Amino acid sequence: MGILYYPIVIVGGGLSGLYAARLLTQTDADFCLLEARERWGGRILSVTDDGFDLGPAWFWPDMQPMMAGLVEELGLSSFPQFADGDVVIERPQQPLQRFAGFGQMASSFRIAGGTGALVTALAKALPQDRLRLGVTVTAASLRDDGVALTTQEGETITAGRVLFALPPRLMEKSIAFTPEPQTRTLWRASATWMAPHAKFLAVYEEPFWRDAGLSGTAQSMVGPMVEIHDASAMAGGAALFGFIGVPADIREKIGESELKAHCLAQFARLFGPKAAKPLATFLKDWSADALTATADDRQGGEHPVPVHQPWFDPAWAGRAAMAGSETAREHPGYLEGALLAAAAGVKALGL
Ligand SMILES: Cc1cc2nc3c(=O)[nH]c(=O)nc-3n(C[C@H](O)[C@H](O)[C@H](O)COP(=O)(O)OP(=O)(O)OC[C@H]3O[C@@H](n4cnc5c(N)ncnc54)[C@H](O)[C@@H]3O)c2cc1C
Repeated sequence: MGILYYPIVIVGGGLSGLYAARLLTQTDADFCLLEARERWGGRILSVTDDGFDLGPAWFWPDMQPMMAGLVEELGLSSFPQFADGDVVIERPQQPLQRFAGFGQMASSFRIAGGTGALVTALAKALPQDRLRLGVTVTAASLRDDGVALTTQEGETITAGRVLFALPPRLMEKSIAFTPEPQTRTLWRASATWMAPHAKFLAVYEEPFWRDAGLSGTAQSMVGPMVEIHDASAMAGGAALFGFIGVPADIREKIGESELKAHCLAQFARLFGPKAAKPLATFLKDWSADALTATADDRQGGEHPVPVHQPWFDPAWAGRAAMAGSETAREHPGYLEGALLAAAAGVKALGL
């Protein structure tokens, strides 16, 4: 295969990579965005025409001005997380308890069409000839005039500067650097937010739980799901989702179909027999996704804390910078962090 050159290469087409590409487009900078998956969005994954979210669903406009601004700039609509009605609590060997919800989570907002609508709108506004899916970077070598990137697909791509828009821990595991930066230990220590987790989602004909005065919010100490919410679309499609509390290793042993059956049985316990008859179900285990999680992410799930030391050794300064959400100085790990980190990464490369 031939050798390609771009002044700037962005590695990773999740929210941070897409937003960095948007910033570069606005300054007419020439770049190429490389994404290993055959889709954009990374941890953002919305399914069906309703855009039900198997990855992030919420942003908090009161605290996250960049997300709020971007949603508006892209002409997207947002709506508050549905939380009207009672909350159900499930404890072992006790009858279900039902409490007034007091409009809990009132400040959490969702994007109409799912968070994937944000990804679609961002990707659509970028120069299409500078976007490449299905390209996995496996090595980066520092040269006098830039950085040479090797891909799993057998290409060598040279770049003046590279922005690495992926979780630092994943980068430590999957990309070989020459010279090897001392900061690799820092990358590995940086937990990838939500990578250990799995979400189960069931789609229904109608939000029958609302008719029963339930918000769809539930907490369970029985499982397999520990935290459950209404996931219905703004356009009307009805759904419930839950975060699974069973650790990754056990999830793997149980297997997808058995785990889904347990989740559905739990929905039926909490919301009644109609919950046992969904139109469709989805299970996304992020810990089993090699383009999000590493073996270190199978346990725990510490929240990333802001890191104030450099993410690269001085030898790489001006040639390489980080933009994954985990590298943000505020809101690390969140969607807002991805936007902040992208802006900081672009700046760190002097662009
Ligand atoms: C289940 C779940 C729920 C969440 N809920 C919320 C929420 O409600 N609110 C919130 O704010 N945040 C939430 N988050 C976190 C949010 O998803 C992330 O902050 C955000 O999506 C991170 O974007 P990113 O671009 O930094 O990283 P990623 O989305 O991980 O993107 C990195 C990209 O790099 C690509 N890539 C990896 N390796 C390579 C390689 N070698 N070569 C080329 N490409 C590569 C990947 O395929 C991926 O597309 C949640 C996450 C999950 C998983």
